[in-house]
Amino acid sequence: MKTQEVIDLYKQYIMPVYTQSPVALVKGKGARVWDIEGREYLDFFPGWVVSGLGHCHPRVVNAIKNQCKKIIHVSNNYYNNLQVKLAKTISERSFGGKVFFCNSGAEANEAAIKFARMYGGSGRFEVISMENSFHGRTLATLTATGQRRIQEGFEPLPEGFKHVPFNDLTAVEEAITDKTAAVMIELIQGEGGINVASREYIDGLSKLCRGRDILLIFDEVQTGIGRTGKLFCYQNYGVEPDIMTLAKSLGGGVPIGAMVVRKEIADTLSPGSHASTFGGSPLVSSAALAIFKAIDKEKLLKNVNVMREYLLSCLERLKGKFPIIKEIRGMGLMIGVELTKEGKPIVEECIRRRLLINCTQARVLRIMPPLIVTKRQIDQAMRILDGVLSEK
Ligand code: PLP
Repeated sequence: MKTQEVIDLYKQYIMPVYTQSPVALVKGKGARVWDIEGREYLDFFPGWVVSGLGHCHPRVVNAIKNQCKKIIHVSNNYYNNLQVKLAKTISERSFGGKVFFCNSGAEANEAAIKFARMYGGSGRFEVISMENSFHGRTLATLTATGQRRIQEGFEPLPEGFKHVPFNDLTAVEEAITDKTAAVMIELIQGEGGINVASREYIDGLSKLCRGRDILLIFDEVQTGIGRTGKLFCYQNYGVEPDIMTLAKSLGGGVPIGAMVVRKEIADTLSPGSHASTFGGSPLVSSAALAIFKAIDKEKLLKNVNVMREYLLSCLERLKGKFPIIKEIRGMGLMIGVELTKEGKPIVEECIRRRLLINCTQARVLRIMPPLIVTKRQIDQAMRILDGVLSEK
């Protein structure tokens, strides 16, 4: 098959919900992918960071291969040693909570919203989230999402959601009522344009919530699993949430989501109150355990911090050269390059020159290479970006 044939078949058989680049990918290894015609690309936005440690990480591949010969799925009506081993790993490496497994970021956030409502009892059900946030596409999570375009056409939306400006503590304080159950926030807004929450804001938010028994939910679907140079982004802030949600990089490519809840309150949900048929199967749990092992054994958090410095220095050089670059921001290997113009033509040209990056909020180039990225790969990516920007 050729790329064009794949695209033609999509038109006939796939629901047209995605904006797509004309590239059909068939193979991946580390920071590289290959299309159906055999062309090689450098991937600096691997699978929307699902492949956060690079494509087909050998430890993940081996874990999946070995596990699928034993058992792939176990119903949650029985016990599964790998699921609990993974939960123990996440718990011990974060804030000692209990874990609920599901299959995606939206489901993890949906679970967090349901948890908050159950915890709040009949009187407290409101969730305050941020303008420009993104929390998923289910009805509750798209309502929590602070972007009108994601909600349009799906009204009536569920009740009990409020949005306030990001990084504005007074706005949260003013939005709190006796019905507030939770505040939900991404520490770095990914889809919103790589907007980083300030330390004072998160510190203030934590004090505000604790004082009123309001749950603080950190959506770490995009920021988690080493992306920001710590295993979880909240660890850069020194503030623990009541609930943390994870997905994307957690499974190294297999679908997994997780809600982690502070131990003291975790038993708010009881048998029958929530569930997931696929959640935490042996197959996905083995893949996720391999991810944690890889991060430790290959010292990937150190690599994130070293490569961040290098990538930033390269980007700063480009900023000095091209006035189209307005600002560079982010944390670890989650970097946004805000432009003075539309980023789409730049991303398209980068893809034509075999570098995969993303653009969000029209003007922000999103650069999130895999945690295993090397200096040589950064050099190669920067040469391509330099060439593209020279012509814009
Ligand atoms: N939360 C955040 C911060 C995200 O970035 C995303 C997806 O981009 C989601 C939730 C939704 O995750 P999923 O697409 O796995 O449902």
